[in-house]
Amino acid sequence: MEDQLIWSLTPHGQFTTSSAYRLLDSDLPCSSNANFLYGECEWSNFWKLKWIHPKIMIFIWRALNDAISTRNKLKLWKPNFDSCCPFCLFEEESVDHLFLFCPIAKAVWFGSDLGARFDLFKHFPELMISFWISLGSAYLSSPHPSYPLAFSIIWHLWLAHNVVIFCGVVWPPELVICKARE
Ligand SMILES: [Zn+2]
Repeated sequence: MEDQLIWSLTPHGQFTTSSAYRLLDSDLPCSSNANFLYGECEWSNFWKLKWIHPKIMIFIWRALNDAISTRNKLKLWKPNFDSCCPFCLFEEESVDHLFLFCPIAKAVWFGSDLGARFDLFKHFPELMISFWISLGSAYLSSPHPSYPLAFSIIWHLWLAHNVVIFCGVVWPPELVICKARE
């Protein structure tokens, strides 16, 4: 049986926009800021995960709080800074763009074993909420392999971002997927 990421809010396990809206309209405020995650989602348990490398946990936590050096943030310090995404050279680079909307992110998610379209989410924290909720009580033990892969893809999209900026080398989506699987 192939690995598959299960969306827990629909009976068939497939993501639907309407179920995501119901989630976001419920007791979880909709925001690109991750502070709300502490309560309802018991997000503090995130730090108990044994199956994520600590450096990736810290990175994802920073990304959730919009505290990584994406180019839109750097532009706040230097108004003339080119905040264009180094991959698509079209949209401004942000956390949401880098992990959800950039063509390379979409190609990586869809081309990976997850075969998913996460650009249906509005913000990166919403994607992480969906992971967290669907992970359920398996968060501490041995989760379905989809989850470690998803977290690894996020990390390797960031590494690919650093490689293109600092080395001028573009990792194609297949290489990002391959490295995320290792
Ligand atoms: Zn882009």
